Amino acid sequence: MTDTRSGLLVVAEEKNGKLSNVTLESLTVARELVAGLGGPLAVALTSGSSVDALVQQAAAYGAERAYVAVHSELEVFRSGPYTDAAMAAIEAASPRVVLFANTASGKDVASRCARRAGVGLLGDATRLYVEEGGLRASHPCFGGTIIVEKQALAEPALVTVRTNVFDRTESPASIQVQELSLDFTPSGLLARVVEVVVEDAGMASLEEATIIVSGGRGLGGPENFAMIHELADALGAAVGASRAAVDAGWKPHQYQVGQTGKTVSPTLYVACGISGAIQHKAGMQTSDYIVAINKDPEAPIFGFADLGVVGDVFQVVPALTAEIKKRAAAG
Ligand SMILES: Cc1cc2nc3c(=O)[nH]c(=O)nc-3n(C[C@H](O)[C@H](O)[C@H](O)COP(=O)(O)OP(=O)(O)OC[C@H]3O[C@@H](n4cnc5c(N)ncnc54)[C@H](O)[C@@H]3O)c2cc1C
Repeated sequence: MTDTRSGLLVVAEEKNGKLSNVTLESLTVARELVAGLGGPLAVALTSGSSVDALVQQAAAYGAERAYVAVHSELEVFRSGPYTDAAMAAIEAASPRVVLFANTASGKDVASRCARRAGVGLLGDATRLYVEEGGLRASHPCFGGTIIVEKQALAEPALVTVRTNVFDRTESPASIQVQELSLDFTPSGLLARVVEVVVEDAGMASLEEATIIVSGGRGLGGPENFAMIHELADALGAAVGASRAAVDAGWKPHQYQVGQTGKTVSPTLYVACGISGAIQHKAGMQTSDYIVAINKDPEAPIFGFADLGVVGDVFQVVPALTAEIKKRAAAG
């Protein structure tokens, strides 16, 4: 351990001009960790344009320092420049712990930073705590059948944090901003972004959605997901799926909710033709309000749903969509 290291750095991710949920969750858990680790809570912000709004949002969640990398080459995510920016922040902040999002881009940057810093990486953390002055992290593996407890043996301890597992609460702090100077030489830019194609444009991201409508094997086939999308559109919701629906090839894996899919925590989760197996429950049980539509009154999902509708999805879902549209039209 290097004596000069102190505090914790959260490498932020941004979505539509705001800090992503996992970044806000990381800042929230980081406040508890710095109480045990000592030192300031810092945030690294990377962008192609101004980050003023992000700095204010980070301060509202307790960040005391912001290390800011703004450069035209950071407009669109690329592993190389984003890793350079994160490493510049790590060098400037000299933290004991660095939290990244356990997203595709977060994992990409975190693993590159670990290699450059010559340290290990604690991946997919679902619990973080300080013991004997050092960081401990746990995460489920082998499909959640075992929970692994890990300890960082070198600092900075690099960690990726699972989305929608930790709380998000504000705790305003006054923040100091330090700009990082980055020099991207053409030879250091090994890839050029030619085009950005957004898959399912308009569909809300599952992890960030406040309402989710999910479909399972009870839908009987891929074509019947159309009614799930229609209900989701009426509610302004994202669409999810059970693993049975994904394994059957009815929806791509990015839609899967559950232990081996995405962990979600919306205000409202509507499960249509989903039995409520423990592995599905693991990914959505922290939803505020769960509505289940299933024709089997004995389905496990009724054991933890807030509202259960025993009925056929082919009758209930279209009727529900029609009623929501009618009420929306009536204002
Ligand atoms: C290691 C491991 C990891 C896993 N990870 C995940 C995961 O991440 N996510 C996940 O979802 N699963 C996961 N599973 C699989 C999980 O155990 C279940 O098999 C899966 O969730 C079942 O999906 P389902 O509810 O859509 O299908 P089923 O269990 O087949 O349930 C279908 C339901 O639809 C109802 N139904 C049928 N027809 C109708 C109708 N017309 N109207 C209304 N209801 C109807 C039935 O009554 C039934 O309850 C995992 C399993 C393992 C072993």
